[in-house]
Amino acid sequence: MNNAAWVANAAKGPMMLETVDLGPLGGEDVEVAVDHCGLCHSDLSVLNNQWGISQYPAILGHEVVGRVTAVGPQVKGVTVGQRVGVGWFAASCMHCHQCMGGNHHLCPQVQPTILGHRGGFATHIRSHWAWAIPLPEKLRFADAGPLLCGGITVFSPLAMHAKPTDRVGVIGIGGLGHMAVKFAAAYGCDVTAFTSSESKFDEAKRFGASHVVASNDPAAIGKLGGGFDLLISTVNAKLEWDALIGTLAPNGRLHLVGAVPEPIPVAAFSLILQQRSVSGSPTGSPAAIARMLDFASRHDIAPQTEHFPMSKINDAVARLESGKARYRIVLDADF
Ligand SMILES: [Zn+2]
Ligand SMILES: [Zn+2]
Repeated sequence: MNNAAWVANAAKGPMMLETVDLGPLGGEDVEVAVDHCGLCHSDLSVLNNQWGISQYPAILGHEVVGRVTAVGPQVKGVTVGQRVGVGWFAASCMHCHQCMGGNHHLCPQVQPTILGHRGGFATHIRSHWAWAIPLPEKLRFADAGPLLCGGITVFSPLAMHAKPTDRVGVIGIGGLGHMAVKFAAAYGCDVTAFTSSESKFDEAKRFGASHVVASNDPAAIGKLGGGFDLLISTVNAKLEWDALIGTLAPNGRLHLVGAVPEPIPVAAFSLILQQRSVSGSPTGSPAAIARMLDFASRHDIAPQTEHFPMSKINDAVARLESGKARYRIVLDADF
């Protein structure tokens, strides 16, 4: 099928297979034939208009692994036939302070792949050449999609803030958290997994955690003392914030990549006296994504996935909504 996509025509609606006219290819754009595309919680949020910013018709999918099929005349760095990935962002302005400083993901005009742009649940996707990231040869392509969104989201705080000698806690062992544990363990850190689900205790250890703690047990958290250099929170629910910040070592950092809806109460003294901080970050720049992919291929890190043919996309959405997916869903293109 030539240029078809799974299209959501209204909030919460099922996605329908439709032919799509992508129009002329922009001068700096690449076109990618989609082989695999991860199904991420953010796809659900946009499908269900949870953030109130969705635009329909919407073509979701922002964890694309595919091959370049066409390049515009001004494209640099990628060639036809090359295997690339496209993640949460598909373009940025390339001339603002953030883009020129290497922080393209913080560009004021950065273009999310699935908001006002056609995503990867399709035969083809387009992106600016800078955001079509060449994939290392050794990467496990079929499972690599989730690295392009969830993977870089949890790798960035490690790259920015962790040393291999650090004690790192990962809060929430789900789609994001299980990748965070794998990355932090490969980084050399001593990793503690926090999860409210006892059924995940053993699995967290298999992912590389040395210790597992019940995240809903303030007494157990209190016993940990003040030893964490970095806590990465991947959850979107209210936690025992005081107890968790209390586990940070001097100079320790609580870093948020999960979008908690309620504000997090922080006592100033718990930060001041131990020189602690609370921070957050979104995905990462193209260079950061390339570095993460290189690290993942070198350490053979891939998310644990469940595969669906893309034609079963609405079943895959139901599976993700059920909360039972372990841990990321990948759709294999079957047009
Ligand atoms: Zn995502
Ligand atoms: Zn910019």
